[in-house]
Amino acid sequence: MSGDRLTIFDTTLRDGEQAPGFSLRIDEKLKIAYQLRSLGVDIIEAGFPIASEADAEAVRMIATSIRGPVIAALARCHPQDIERAAWALSPAPRRRIHVFIATSDLHLERKLRMTREACLRAAMTAVRLARQFTDDVQFSAEDATRTDPDFLWRIVEAVIQSGAKTINLPDTVGYSTPDEIAAFFRGVISRVPSSDQVTFSAHCHDDLGLAVANTLAAIGAGARQVECTVNGVGERAGNASLEEVVMATRVRADRLPFATGINTREIFPSSQLLSALTGEGVQANKAIVGRNAFAHEAGIHQDGMLKDRRTYEIMRPEEVGVPQATLVLGKHSGRHAVQRRCEQLGFTLDRQTLDRVYRGVIAHADREKVVSDADLAKIVTRECGIELPAAGVAATVPDFHATPAERGYGHGV
Ligand code: MN
Repeated sequence: MSGDRLTIFDTTLRDGEQAPGFSLRIDEKLKIAYQLRSLGVDIIEAGFPIASEADAEAVRMIATSIRGPVIAALARCHPQDIERAAWALSPAPRRRIHVFIATSDLHLERKLRMTREACLRAAMTAVRLARQFTDDVQFSAEDATRTDPDFLWRIVEAVIQSGAKTINLPDTVGYSTPDEIAAFFRGVISRVPSSDQVTFSAHCHDDLGLAVANTLAAIGAGARQVECTVNGVGERAGNASLEEVVMATRVRADRLPFATGINTREIFPSSQLLSALTGEGVQANKAIVGRNAFAHEAGIHQDGMLKDRRTYEIMRPEEVGVPQATLVLGKHSGRHAVQRRCEQLGFTLDRQTLDRVYRGVIAHADREKVVSDADLAKIVTRECGIELPAAGVAATVPDFHATPAERGYGHGV
């Protein structure tokens, strides 16, 4: 099922890079930018040029080298920020200046020490200045979800009149709930007179683990740009994870009929590259890209997987670039998986030997958690006195060739 096209705005190199202890060298940022192009993101937010000389140089290098995606840079509503962003972006044929200002009373009074009227004027002036450098200007109302709605609607209309083409409404502190953010986007879109002239964008943080759910709710309410990061990295608990948003729209295209330009087979390589360059691992049970996302240990699950993958798998690992699903031999494994692994190692066991090997595997797993091929070889050798080929064959599920419809998986785009 196809539907509306979503714009994927990747901010791995800007918001992601703001994650504590996460800074990247220019050459590393460039590597990630090339990978993001292969992944098929529409927009690469390359950095915040006024933040440092190195950030400005990195944005300029990416703007010089990467062709295809729009290259974006962040700027506060200050002339020097906007001019710096414009300089860094100037080599890019497709460039976006992304200006932002906080709009909630809390941020205006306590952080910026600014009145609403001054905020409104600064936003309009900044958008007009940015438009002198590019037609593609995005405005973000920082802390939008905690902003007084009347003021938010007013400032959004004002920046549209000033020339903004994309309006991003961040849940900066990850405070919203999905029902709330849906009502919030519907409210803005229905109350801002010129809302039909711009694209609305969601930028959700994961402080309550709701970033992806909130992003999907915003899409349902009319947002058509998603701001996200590889592995969900970003400030504090991070941003909406690109891979989760994209795969939700593919696997559940029946509920979320939205197309993206993402080449999903590049998802896992992108995740791996980012982890390697930052030294930050991905949590084992992270959806889509975690080490265990396609691993099955429970005996009942392994038995089901060996009979028909659809029993415990809603998407194929190959679809997101993960080589193959793994059946982990551990204390929850069943005879079927042990038998399959032995066969893959080149040995067929009779029923009685299999029983003994199986008990050996469970006893070993009780002590060591996971049973490697070498461990299994030792157990089989002990139980039947025959040497197994010394292979490092992984216990994998053979690929099967079926169409998405036969598999019963929802398949987007
Ligand atoms: Mn953010």
